[in-house]
Amino acid sequence: MHDIRARRTRPYPGETSPKVELGVASMSTRKPSKDVPRDVPAGATGVIVIDLAQVRANWRALAHHVAPAECGAVVKADAYGVGAARIIPALAEAGCRSFFVATPEEARDARALATDAAIYVLDGLLPGTARELVSISAIPVLASLGEVREWVDHTSDDTDLPPAALHIDTGLNRLGMSQDEVEELSRDTALLARLRLALVMSHLACADEADHPMNREQLDTFNRLRATLPFAPASIAASDGMMLGAEYHCDLVRPGYALYGGQAAPERLTPVGPVVRVSARILQVRDVARGGRIGYSASYRAHKPQRIATVAAGYADGVFRHASATNEEPGGAVSIGGRHAPIVGRVSMDLITVDVTDIDSPAPVPGDWVDLVGPELTIETVGAGAKTIGYEVLTRLGSRFHRIYLDQGD
Ligand SMILES: *Cc1c(COP(=O)(O)O)cnc(C)c1O
Repeated sequence: MHDIRARRTRPYPGETSPKVELGVASMSTRKPSKDVPRDVPAGATGVIVIDLAQVRANWRALAHHVAPAECGAVVKADAYGVGAARIIPALAEAGCRSFFVATPEEARDARALATDAAIYVLDGLLPGTARELVSISAIPVLASLGEVREWVDHTSDDTDLPPAALHIDTGLNRLGMSQDEVEELSRDTALLARLRLALVMSHLACADEADHPMNREQLDTFNRLRATLPFAPASIAASDGMMLGAEYHCDLVRPGYALYGGQAAPERLTPVGPVVRVSARILQVRDVARGGRIGYSASYRAHKPQRIATVAAGYADGVFRHASATNEEPGGAVSIGGRHAPIVGRVSMDLITVDVTDIDSPAPVPGDWVDLVGPELTIETVGAGAKTIGYEVLTRLGSRFHRIYLDQGD
């Protein structure tokens, strides 16, 4: 499985054995249970390590996969929580020429980071924002006839018509022009003459299921409707859709999640490697007698003598409260030296309690680092432990942990 993934010449931290010593005086004297980040302030309870070289390698692997179609990058929501300020320049350096954000404010930030690239605004044209978008050369993804008219009203006197994109809803029923609106637009030659189309796009509902009949239906609808409009480059695939075959690549693909190491479709692995590692410190380790209650509301009881480690991470740091565990219903887990330690009891704001009874050689001690996301704990696994998806794991990463951006070149 690993051989299909983008590999940098230098490995992702944690995949190789060299142990990095913590520069922290208060640590236990023996080596930490697993290699841990370098240069962490003594007071940091948690660390998020983001591998920019891996992001670039992921983009290149995706671009290679879809060539000759173009590979863009979706960097909305602060690049899925990973940090647009670092991700956008890294991708621009790798050769990415088309960025997708959600909002006009994100577009403004992206423009400052990628001065020459195309920047598409997926939320469409918010009333009153046309001139602002023109001033930063951002491209609205127009989602209704009303938006088309508002855009044209504000731009058609410009000497060079600024480009716009069109979003066609082909069955997701979320955002985009309906089939009727597309047909009305296609007949309105006066309106079309005042519109410079840079891209026509749609979005798939079920692309994470390769055999779902909606994929083909949406592609066919998209191709039929866009043929009624003046020619423009086309785009329908996000991270999952780009693994459905070349027909879905059209002229441009729009991956987000895959760039950040996510596997959007479990049965069709995307050729990317992990980008994010999240680690936090153990604050205390205690032995709890059989029957002892653990955490708020005493929602977990030790079913035998159990050793419990308290870790300095909670829902304020992006650990889902839904990753809490009762005796009846398991929740999430952390990874300690490659072994999973299940969360027991409630996730609180700053702390979680994990069962380390079976983890020895070495037994965890205060000051050790555990992974909340890491080489042995993918964002998909973490999401599943909280009944959600890896996307939400990334976008909920908290602001309290110390961030380290690795950029070791390619
Ligand atoms: C968020 C988004 C994408 C990117 O989706 P991923 O699954 O993260 O690749 C692409 N297109 C649209 C319209 C989106 O909203």
